[in-house]
Amino acid sequence: MSESKRLFFAIELPTSLQRQIVRWRASHFPAEAGRPVAAANMHLTLAFLGDVSAEKQRALSALAGRIFQPGFTLHLDDAGQWLRSRVVWLGIRQPPRGLLQLASMLRAQAARSGCYQSPQPFHPHITLLRDAGQAVAIPPPGFHWSFEVKEFALYESAFVQGRTRYTPLQRWTLGDTLRNPDEV
Ligand code: ATP
Ligand code: MG
Repeated sequence: MSESKRLFFAIELPTSLQRQIVRWRASHFPAEAGRPVAAANMHLTLAFLGDVSAEKQRALSALAGRIFQPGFTLHLDDAGQWLRSRVVWLGIRQPPRGLLQLASMLRAQAARSGCYQSPQPFHPHITLLRDAGQAVAIPPPGFHWSFEVKEFALYESAFVQGRTRYTPLQRWTLGDTLRNPDEV
């Protein structure tokens, strides 16, 4: 019997943007506001899968590989706090259709494969602070925090030596839908 892994599909942030966000966070939030997410861990979750067996992982991977859609641009132009889940986040006021389609495909595939299903609707966000149980003032996000999304990945989340670590297991490229212009 194989072990299960805690998995999720997500979009990784470019390293330069992770660094800019960390600087902005350090200058706008007091240390007691919450537990900062490490720069390298900053991501946008598309679909959380929960604990998944190796067999189910293979099936989900094959399904993800059948997704063909173009890339898109994300503008991180929103920020807020959810007191109930105790997080401060960065978000997107008007999520592009490509992002919503990708998340909805992955969530539907996960549901059909019998994975954990989040009761929450998809609310794209990047968690910046955890354990943020007290309301804090939320500054507007930096200007020009945009990036091109050209791929998505399947991540494993593991709690190792007191820290949550994400490991990318597989990546898929978002392509041009006109990749075969000669085909009708
Ligand atoms: P930790 O829980 O160890 O503090 P974490 O929340 O980042 O850290 P995971 O719980 O493994 O690590 O979550 C991985 C990703 O999946 C995160 O983006 C998290 O927000 C999201 N996630 C976790 N649980 C759920 C859930 N029940 N529903 C939707 N998304 C979830
Ligand atoms: Mg968690």
